[in-house]
Amino acid sequence: MRIATDVALDVGLVRRWIEALAAAVETGCDDLTRLDAAIGDADHGVNMTRGMRAAVATFDGDDVPDLPGPMLTLVGNRLVSVVGGAAGPLYGSAFRAMGAAIGGSTGDLEVVSGAVRAGLEAVQRLGAAEAGDKTMVDAWMPAALALEAGGRVVDAVEMAEKAAREGMMATIPMRAHKGRASYLGWRSEGHQDPGATSTHMVFASLLIAAT
Ligand code: ADP
Ligand code: MG
Repeated sequence: MRIATDVALDVGLVRRWIEALAAAVETGCDDLTRLDAAIGDADHGVNMTRGMRAAVATFDGDDVPDLPGPMLTLVGNRLVSVVGGAAGPLYGSAFRAMGAAIGGSTGDLEVVSGAVRAGLEAVQRLGAAEAGDKTMVDAWMPAALALEAGGRVVDAVEMAEKAAREGMMATIPMRAHKGRASYLGWRSEGHQDPGATSTHMVFASLLIAAT
């Protein structure tokens, strides 16, 4: 049963989500860079800031789609073309897959959680990371599971943000098995994964947009 105070997935929600995410990666740019400097090549903050700025800029163009699915596909396309490294194709594919999963629907929690699941599957199809490999998957997977628990959209998104935060923190003791950090072997242990950190921002921004 839908309750009047619940939020629906519509164009406004997507726009608030992407704008909040752009603000979050910009504010957190130095933190993301510092995390990537420890176990990567210190470009994750700059990569994400450039990509999200480009994504937000497309919303000021003439051909902005008036459905949430195509809007997210547009965001994914921008991320693929603008963001380098591993994160560009991974987040680009994730947003494209979320857009494709939503298609022409506007909607309820089932649509949101189906989209997030499709985004996770796209990341795993492309990057072949499993849970525990110390990547963005470690934040994305628990968020997807939390959304699948059901309830009101706002409550489920709040649980997803918490789950993503816990998943992000859980990467600290892990040894990396995918991406640049895996070159470090055991020396990757004791550091928070930058991609899991930006994925937490994805769900924290969705919560900002939904409340
Ligand atoms: P690069 O590693 O090419 O410099 P970024 O620094 O932008 O790219 O992104 C690094 C993040 O990408 C990592 O912290 C990790 O979360 C994520 N990542 C790297 N490889 C994979 C993979 N195969 N699957 C999922 N995520 C990955
Ligand atoms: Mg990097």
